[in-house]
Amino acid sequence: MAATILLVEDEEKLARFVELELVHEGYTVEKSGNGRQALDMALQNNYDLILLDIMLPGLNGLEVLRRLLREKEVPVILLTARDAVMDKVSGLDAGAVDYITKPFAIEELLARIRVALKLHAGHPAGKNGYSSSEDEEGVCRWHDLVLDDRRHRVLYAGHEITLTNREFLMLKTLLENQDIVLSRETLLNKVCGYDYVGETNVVDVYIRYLRSKIDDAFGVKMIRTVRGVGYVIKSETE
Ligand code: CA
Repeated sequence: MAATILLVEDEEKLARFVELELVHEGYTVEKSGNGRQALDMALQNNYDLILLDIMLPGLNGLEVLRRLLREKEVPVILLTARDAVMDKVSGLDAGAVDYITKPFAIEELLARIRVALKLHAGHPAGKNGYSSSEDEEGVCRWHDLVLDDRRHRVLYAGHEITLTNREFLMLKTLLENQDIVLSRETLLNKVCGYDYVGETNVVDVYIRYLRSKIDDAFGVKMIRTVRGVGYVIKSETE
């Protein structure tokens, strides 16, 4: 059965464009350009997913989200402005399953919708999103750092860190093996595959990128060098 999506967006042209694309994909779409009206609609109907703009007349999108998720469980993807980092953090904290930054490519939005619908269908959960055990599936943590494998996303204290695939894989490998020193060969095999022929010092390059994006950016000492052996993330900071 086709999913029904509530699209909450007050920019007429954008709303119309997204609606057409969603309908084209086979979704049933209802629209609102007002936060208060959207909240009423969402409370009275059972939508499979809600796309929610944050800057809205009537009621701010974050407030719509908070009030809605107090009452019922529904996956919400936020549509946020480019530099609204705090909105993204607040939105995820309030229980949104994902967000997409405007302007976005429609293909990316469609992909995120598919993921959110699939996760939601497979994981019936508590009213605030996914139940805690499922929430942890595929998630690695180190202090304020969270790596979410399913969503291919890394956050440090709520700030999203953009990593390449190989950086992501390397970080994931280190996080999954906390307190175990991994050799360059082991890391290389994980990140480049066993048939990779080349210098193991590419590992050092990826480590350098990771350090600049995480250790240096947030003033932490996460990835440690063990001279002559390899690298390790220690679960305890010193
Ligand atoms: Ca808006």
